[in-house]
Amino acid sequence: MIISFPKVTVVTKIVFATIYLYTTLNDLNMNTHYQVVVVGGGTGGIMTAAQLKRKDRNMTIAIIEPNTEHYYQPAWTLVGAGTFNFEDTKRDEKKLIPHGVDWIKDRVTTFDPEKNIVHTKNSGDLHYDYLVLSTGIKMDIDGLPGLGEALNTDIVCSNYIDPEKTYRVLQNFKGGNAIFTQPAGAIRCGGAPQKIMYLGEEYFQKSGVRNKTNLVFATPGTVIFGTKEFADELNRIIEKKHINFKPFYKPVKINAAKQEITFQYIKPDIKRSYADLDSTLGERLDGENLVTVHYDMLHIAPPQTAPDVISQSPFATPDGPNKGYMQVDIHTLQHLKYVNVFGLGDNAGLPTAKTGAAIRKQAPVVVGNIMQMMKQQPFGEHQYQGYSSCPIVTGYGKMLLCEFKYDNVRDSDKLLTKFVNTAKEQWSMWILKKYGLPWLYWNMMMKGRM
Ligand SMILES: Cc1cc2nc3c(=O)[nH]c(=O)nc-3n(C[C@H](O)[C@H](O)[C@H](O)COP(=O)(O)OP(=O)(O)OC[C@H]3O[C@@H](n4cnc5c(N)ncnc54)[C@H](O)[C@@H]3O)c2cc1C
Repeated sequence: MIISFPKVTVVTKIVFATIYLYTTLNDLNMNTHYQVVVVGGGTGGIMTAAQLKRKDRNMTIAIIEPNTEHYYQPAWTLVGAGTFNFEDTKRDEKKLIPHGVDWIKDRVTTFDPEKNIVHTKNSGDLHYDYLVLSTGIKMDIDGLPGLGEALNTDIVCSNYIDPEKTYRVLQNFKGGNAIFTQPAGAIRCGGAPQKIMYLGEEYFQKSGVRNKTNLVFATPGTVIFGTKEFADELNRIIEKKHINFKPFYKPVKINAAKQEITFQYIKPDIKRSYADLDSTLGERLDGENLVTVHYDMLHIAPPQTAPDVISQSPFATPDGPNKGYMQVDIHTLQHLKYVNVFGLGDNAGLPTAKTGAAIRKQAPVVVGNIMQMMKQQPFGEHQYQGYSSCPIVTGYGKMLLCEFKYDNVRDSDKLLTKFVNTAKEQWSMWILKKYGLPWLYWNMMMKGRM
């Protein structure tokens, strides 16, 4: 049969048009609906997506993350003390996105959980079957009046913001009042403010200024650490190093021009009087229970809150100590109202320390429970017990590995503690911190292998 030329053209056009329409629709579908949408491509988001992909490589997953770089922040403590290269804490986000997962390089603006939709700034709406939120925490610089201005000076620093500057401040310090603070409320890695203080103390010994330095660690907390076994060792170290430990000291304002920080003394039913003032530091009473002190260097852990995208969303805890953070079941990590939504990492309102180590135990719970829901089976063994860990570096070459769970109950690794007493400062734990944990983070945890 001879087909005439014009007919071939029409048939070809129809075939091409059909293929085009099919692929376009398919693309549209692929790009707007995913089985799992993960918001935040940091520690929690990457670990969760990588583990989900390992469970089911056909699962459609998107990670929404605006940043092109991710940092291994636990090493910032060491950067601040000049013993780790800042550039080595950084990786391209592109290289962390698990194979087969779509990276939506954008920022989520709002959520519509009734319709299973997230709205993004530039990429339109994404539809999901399951939603995982790991958007981290917000450094609330305005939460401490005067902090923004103080951070612009050469003697105020923060490992939470610019650890390289911390090291410059330590190097330039010539003696006087060296003050390290902790804010009220939950923060990322609650042990980090004291780690840099121990390192700073040892640095000042090396630089020859320790004997003309008053070294202060001021915290609104009541104790140096919540778990007794670790607190005992830390109190011993504080005494040995002649550190001026000030509990019940909540930072309330900074006067950068005068180099002064003011604390509110918050011990219940106790009023600070002139007789209680610390004359070595030159403390001054500035109103009821307000103590002002001059600083020659200041390390600040800024106040921290849930990111706005969470605190202003339907997922936020309405009140209490976790106000603004995601309201999830503390064992299943499932949102209390929206059952196909899970939260982990710093943005989750959990009564335990916000660390990457905690996320290592949370991610398998989120993954396990999503898999159960996909199979329409009830939740089983995947329960989070509040595990978190704070590697408290107590000097160059020394560290305690403080592992605990809900209610501050010690939860040290059973195998490790057969060989090492992790509740005492150890050189082996320092080696773990400096070399072992970064390697495990990039090569195992962020690849979904542990
Ligand atoms: C100085 C310091 C020392 C620390 N030491 C330790 C330690 O020794 N051990 C330890 O285990 N942990 C430590 N941590 C804590 C640890 O780094 C964090 O707990 C962990 O990285 C938090 O992971 P995350 O996924 O919750 O948040 P992140 O890793 O911060 O990821 C959140 C991501 O969400 C993205 N995001 C935010 N908003 C949106 C939005 N609207 N749309 C899309 N994406 C968004 C952000 O860009 C970010 O990439 C330390 C932290 C610091 C700062």
